[in-house]
Amino acid sequence: MPHPCLSCGACCTQFRVAFHWMESDEFSEGGVPAALTERLDAHRLCMRGTYSTPVHCVALDARIGEYSRCTIHSNRPSVCRQVDASWEYGAPSAQCDKARLAHGLAPLTLADWRWRDAADNDDCPDDNGSSPPTPRLPPVAA
Ligand code: SF4
Ligand code: SF4
Repeated sequence: MPHPCLSCGACCTQFRVAFHWMESDEFSEGGVPAALTERLDAHRLCMRGTYSTPVHCVALDARIGEYSRCTIHSNRPSVCRQVDASWEYGAPSAQCDKARLAHGLAPLTLADWRWRDAADNDDCPDDNGSSPPTPRLPPVAA
């Protein structure tokens, strides 16, 4: 059974994806491709497509509920790395649940991860060591 995120992508169509401008590849090697971002305010950029309605990140290649892939996975913003799939690490994720429900998909449960435990098969699309470290950032005004 594949990782649930590979047939989902819902969270990339629900939230504004904002982050400090220092994460851009204009300032950080291996950072977020600047061409896929727009300025949000003096301190922040956001992924194109996530500051308008309907939300759909420009980097998302997906048919929600069927297949999904982040085309800049190893260079995605820090905020994207921080969204866990529900129960992948033993706890629910409000963002994951909300996003899936918005697309008529049931929230994940512990049962959605048993295949991994049973097969010792971790084809998680998340960090695999190839992602660049998140740059150390100065505080951002709220
Ligand atoms: S984190 Fe949750 S909402 Fe996002 S792609 Fe994975 S399963 Fe879907
Ligand atoms: S950058 Fe990738 S992970 Fe982040 S919202 Fe866009 S498609 Fe999703």
